[in-house]
Amino acid sequence: MARITDVKTTIWEWVGPVAPMPPHFCTTASDLVADVTGSIAGFRFLGWLVVEITCDDGTVGIGNAALAPHATKATIDTYLKPLLIGTDPLDSEYIWQSMYRRTLPFGRKGIGMTAISAVDLAVWDLKGKLLGQPVFKLLGGRTKSRIPVYASRLYSQPLDTLYTEAKAYAEQGFPAVKLRFGWGPKDGPAGIAKNVDLVRTTREAVGPDVDIMADCYMGWTLEYARRMLRAVAPFNLRWVEEPVIADDLHGYAELKAMGLVAISGGEHEYTLYGFRQALDLKSYDIVQFDVNRVGGVTAAKKIADLCEAHDVVVIPHAGQMHNYHVTMSTYAGPIAEYFPKVPVEVGNELFWYIFDGEPIAENGSIDLADDRPGFGLTLKTPDQNFKLTA
Ligand SMILES: [Mg+2]
Repeated sequence: MARITDVKTTIWEWVGPVAPMPPHFCTTASDLVADVTGSIAGFRFLGWLVVEITCDDGTVGIGNAALAPHATKATIDTYLKPLLIGTDPLDSEYIWQSMYRRTLPFGRKGIGMTAISAVDLAVWDLKGKLLGQPVFKLLGGRTKSRIPVYASRLYSQPLDTLYTEAKAYAEQGFPAVKLRFGWGPKDGPAGIAKNVDLVRTTREAVGPDVDIMADCYMGWTLEYARRMLRAVAPFNLRWVEEPVIADDLHGYAELKAMGLVAISGGEHEYTLYGFRQALDLKSYDIVQFDVNRVGGVTAAKKIADLCEAHDVVVIPHAGQMHNYHVTMSTYAGPIAEYFPKVPVEVGNELFWYIFDGEPIAENGSIDLADDRPGFGLTLKTPDQNFKLTA
């Protein structure tokens, strides 16, 4: 029987050069309370938390979290680590329930569940390494020969560069692309027209045979979202993402019921209980949990099964190995998100600079190796672009 002997948390903070972003690159929830400069600051995240769990035989499992790394680190170090020492990593359900129930009064969602998720990922990576199997093989195995992926970058920008970038993704074979709306309720009818221009330009660039999705990152109000859905309905978007704040599950349901454009959400929803409520309310056409915040693999697998029973599609936020392994093993997941590797800008791309082993898209799809245990990731040796805090 294996025993966990150590839990180590390290913040990888990018201090190297950062690519500039256009001022309206994406709407955010804070647009309604801040000027646009403040919104960009709130969107950028340049720190990543890495969790390494060591077993008594020396095997190390790796997990990660991208939300609020400093607070997540403190939560793991203070509250979760003591629960883990001495446990058997193969008892992952027990470990999850132990973390969840001990932190319930202050955990549940947000930082508490992000901390549990990061640990759970390391536990599943450890399980895979101890058993000599990739994580997806422990979850039910391969349900598709490869995973189709959509290119996810297309921030709001001048229409000529948007056109060029979108066209390039289509030519690289991506079956779908996602853009970000740049304007919200404060920007009036002119902003609506600019948002429509983004969608129209992208459609012109990729043609009729590539799907287009568009993300609001919770930057709209319900009333504004109703107007926008009517405005973009003619362009046959595959979905509009997070049109309103994550807590407004009734608002999501109302927009979905309009039947104009499919509504996706759940990037900022948590646990089986959160998604049970959302599915009961018919809030989403597409569920987009991220395994590294929703409750780890342990919660994601249960939510994917719940979605299958509701015939709701699961297309996790962000791609990356922890999401790809769940997507590979579930029939509810037809396609995954893919952040192309670019110079560091928002932070979405930072994982390329921290881990080795992430799959590179070829002709619009990725594959997972059958012979790489765990998630198949290793940590890079940090260079001068990173400041590490242990
Ligand atoms: Mg999103």
